[in-house]
Amino acid sequence: MKPTALTLNAGSSSLKFGLYDIEGEPVERAMGLVERIGGQPRLKVDFGPDEGREARELAAADASDHRSALATVLDLLRARFPDVRATAVGHRVVHGGPRFAEPAVVTPKVLDALRALAPFAPLHQPHNIAGIEAAMEAFPDAVQVACFDTAFHRHQPRVNDEFALPREYYDKGVRRYGFHGLSYEYVSGEIRRFAPLLHEGRVVVAHLGNGASMCGMIGGRSMVSTMGFTALDGLPMGTRTGQIDPGVVFYMVQQEGKTIDEVRDLFYTKSGLLGISDLSNDMRTLEAAGTTEANEAIDYFVFRCRRELGGLAAVLGGLDALVFCGGIGENSRTIRARICENLDWLGIELDRARNEGNERRINSSYSRSHVLVVPTNEEIMIARAARRLSQGPGVAAAAE
Ligand code: ADP
Repeated sequence: MKPTALTLNAGSSSLKFGLYDIEGEPVERAMGLVERIGGQPRLKVDFGPDEGREARELAAADASDHRSALATVLDLLRARFPDVRATAVGHRVVHGGPRFAEPAVVTPKVLDALRALAPFAPLHQPHNIAGIEAAMEAFPDAVQVACFDTAFHRHQPRVNDEFALPREYYDKGVRRYGFHGLSYEYVSGEIRRFAPLLHEGRVVVAHLGNGASMCGMIGGRSMVSTMGFTALDGLPMGTRTGQIDPGVVFYMVQQEGKTIDEVRDLFYTKSGLLGISDLSNDMRTLEAAGTTEANEAIDYFVFRCRRELGGLAAVLGGLDALVFCGGIGENSRTIRARICENLDWLGIELDRARNEGNERRINSSYSRSHVLVVPTNEEIMIARAARRLSQGPGVAAAAE
């Protein structure tokens, strides 16, 4: 049986999946997404340049929850690849808490540990766990591997890991974890591959997608990041506030009589670009809209990116490279140009034509710091971990 990995990335109402040959470095065979799970679900799948794409509405019952969505995905993959059996299933898990600094083989004990972390990420972790449970049922013989969004940041210095709260909270796990770790690790690996010297230096990676954060690294190790205890902190996002004074929570609860669930919903799903623009969480829509409110949302996003970039560079003691990734970072020339405006004090000068052309290196030849665009690939990091932990004599040891 050819070793094959299925990757699963379960969001609150979506399930991203990938199928990889993992005989050597993972080779993608299919990549897809079920969205609007529990509503009017839709399926998109891409079988590669020669094999075509598919996009269609699903019956509500085909994806009423994550379990049925996974069953629908498996039916599709089995029809397309009748001989394929997953030998490993890799899962993106949002929170690894203080314990998980590496991907882990899912054993009953590990699963219990992941369940115990659910209060740290109540909106995401239960879906990740549901994905693991559904995959264990569907592939009882496959090695299940959990890959954590927090793991990459677990070795940050303590000053970046703690809050100024009474000490007992640090021990209870109330720490700055940072997220988007799979993306940062992939991008850092790419920099090491094509610019090994730069990789050793002071690098800020800006992952600007629907979720957005920045990470400052030295020698490919995370030193500081903008996200904290949850994926709510730091930069403003599609629908999330980013950094906000906690006093706003007290005001909403005590003066406006909102419940804490209402405030959480407001901060996670109604704020950010959507909240300011009163129009959309989607940067493309805002760039095209040109209304005062849409422009204000973009201004705020750019302002906070610049502010955080300056802070991260100060922690790193300077900047050798700024790297953009994520849907906005990889595609929006305007946002990149605006973030980099007047940053000569940080050694940054963009090359307009290169930026317009979406090239990998977009700094001018006079720029002291490098500015790069590196498309991220979180899925392949999951496939690599699934391969590593499912093959060879390490499996039994890793499962302990
Ligand atoms: P997610 O965090 O859901 O994975 P993505 O990384 O796919 O999100 O990023 C989605 C964001 O990228 C959206 O705001 C979208 O508008 C933006 N985006 C994608 N392509 C472009 C583009 N060509 N110009 C501006 N923004 C873009």
